[in-house]
Amino acid sequence: KAAPLGSSVIPIVNKLQDIFAQLGSQSSIELPQVAVVGSQSSGKSSVLEALVGRDFLPRGNDICTRRPLVLQLLQTKSKASGGSDDEWGEFLHLPNNRIYDFSEIRREIEAETNRLVGENKGVSDKQIRLKIFSPNVLDITLVDLPGITKVPVGDQPTDIEARIRTMILSYIKQPSCLILAVTPANSDLANSDALQIAGNADPDGHRTIGVITKLDIMDRGTDARNLLLGKVVPLRLGYVGVVNRCQEDILQNRSVKEALSAEEKFFRSRPAYHGLADRLGIPQLAKKLNQILVQHIKVLLPDLKSRISNALVATAKEHQSYGEITESTAGQGAILLNFLSKYCEAYSSLLEGKSEEMSTS
Ligand code: GDP
Ligand code: MG
Repeated sequence: KAAPLGSSVIPIVNKLQDIFAQLGSQSSIELPQVAVVGSQSSGKSSVLEALVGRDFLPRGNDICTRRPLVLQLLQTKSKASGGSDDEWGEFLHLPNNRIYDFSEIRREIEAETNRLVGENKGVSDKQIRLKIFSPNVLDITLVDLPGITKVPVGDQPTDIEARIRTMILSYIKQPSCLILAVTPANSDLANSDALQIAGNADPDGHRTIGVITKLDIMDRGTDARNLLLGKVVPLRLGYVGVVNRCQEDILQNRSVKEALSAEEKFFRSRPAYHGLADRLGIPQLAKKLNQILVQHIKVLLPDLKSRISNALVATAKEHQSYGEITESTAGQGAILLNFLSKYCEAYSSLLEGKSEEMSTS
């Protein structure tokens, strides 16, 4: 029921990758990266983890994410299609080492962070790169970033805030990066670091989704209804409100699954959130991201089509220059390209239908 991130686009992307492969094209479909931004302890790592559906990121009420973590999700063949249902992680700094235990992955992220920047809250822009292999994911890259802090602590330099801002901007100013701007509901949205830095990188708001965390610990008597409706700070792509695990849940090892059902129960029990179902919960956030990914793929299709027809023209010319030899490989190539071009067109219309269906649901 809680559709994992990308589940609805996986088949489309796979088919398109096949087309690219047959075209012999070096570039395949590049899905946009998704980065989380916000102030420290706003819940960024918690949101990413819930989207992936596994527990493996260091989280806590202190500075936990101290180096950018570039998390590449890679789809493997499921058991049903001749592979295996195993899920594992592999770090760039530990090549050929498959880690099947996700709490070991978390310990390694912490250890590798400490190796470079020590244990005393040091921060660095040097990436940790981790691949997660699973039959249940879409090939997409997520980036977990250190949060914005104002006051240097521990080994942090005096210009820590400026350094972290520069680091974050270097990711989110890339025009293809989707930004999850995370703000806790118990802070003032008008002062949100997340919205401020996202607004710098994406002034039109075409690729920024607002995420409001910690709806469960708002001041009694208040709720986030107006925030979620965009009445406080409007945002083109809108907001999704979520409830992640609290520190106690983390200490008690509550699973992602338990957290998702607790989240659902929370929203059901609060009249203030009734009628806002399309703006509430991690599954809704995943759905929103999926819709944006589908849009993104649609934008890529015309280019794919024109590359196919260029290849067609070139092959036809080559064909002509061979004169009489009709059964040449060039001829076969033209037939193949023709087929691909039709296929691509069919996919275009399928995507049209798909996104309509998604936007009306
Ligand atoms: P980050 O620094 O932005 O990556 O934030 P983390 O994901 O590490 O979370 C910081 C702290 O806030 C952790 O102790 C989390 O358990 C807690 N937290 C995150 N989201 C929520 C939420 O929605 N509700 C509650 N009660 N606690 C949360
Ligand atoms: Mg974090």
